[in-house]
Amino acid sequence: MNHDLSHPGARGCVTLVGAGPGDPELLTLKALKAIQAATVLLVDDLVNPAIVALAAPTARVIHVGKRGGCKSTPQSFIEKLMLTAVSEGENVVRLKGGDPFLFGRGGEEVAHLQAAGVRVQVVNGITAGLAAVTSLNVPLTHREHAQGVVFITGHAKPGALGPDWRALATTAHNAKLTLVIYMGMTGAAHIQAELLHGLPAGTPVAIVQNVSLPQQRHATCTLSGLAATITRENLGSPSIIVVGDVIAGVAAVPMAQQWMA
Ligand code: SAH
Repeated sequence: MNHDLSHPGARGCVTLVGAGPGDPELLTLKALKAIQAATVLLVDDLVNPAIVALAAPTARVIHVGKRGGCKSTPQSFIEKLMLTAVSEGENVVRLKGGDPFLFGRGGEEVAHLQAAGVRVQVVNGITAGLAAVTSLNVPLTHREHAQGVVFITGHAKPGALGPDWRALATTAHNAKLTLVIYMGMTGAAHIQAELLHGLPAGTPVAIVQNVSLPQQRHATCTLSGLAATITRENLGSPSIIVVGDVIAGVAAVPMAQQWMA
């Protein structure tokens, strides 16, 4: 479908927009058009303020992330805000980090809005995991090293069990899959221990923090050194952990991001 998001006909609908990993130049043209046409923007934590600044000066910007004004905006409140704005004829953009449909709860929001009879459009963004490996000049599926890739969360829904890391490790080893782990920093020691049940201790790993931003940093190590490297290099969130042979050969020492200098 070919939506003209800047057209006044787009009023009264909600557009979920992927803001990408941070660098405004990684926005799609469709995302930029939607942001510029928005009259109300609901913005998540991980969205770079430089991207929010692309909105019209008259647009109302509401920060709804955990680090925004309040401690944590409940999902139901965000959905209510969107419904109210849309019923007032606003052109609502829900701005989410990376891609709205990868670990972004975009699916829940679309379902809720559609159930209320609201028109919804979704604009893809470059997901952080993809940008993380690309920034190291690593292809996720170099055919010598990997036949596929798994995007996986290290953080389970409250009350739910996390991923079965042991089963995943065995599959990744047998099927030659690259693992791209989101939200894995807090549980890194556990993830490391579990993955070692199915992957060799020497499997290359990269941790990339603040992907695509000027403060991007990374470190590489082997799977058996994952948690220790995070501590030693003082890496924190937001970071992507990449596990697999495609990482072999990436410089071990955090390198300068010359292309961003
Ligand atoms: N929808 C987002 C992911 C949201 S989950 C996307 O597609 O990228 C939040 C997690 O994404 C973080 O805990 C971190 O693992 C990852 N992440 C998001 N932005 C990041 C960035 N700029 N650098 C590194 N990791 C990032």
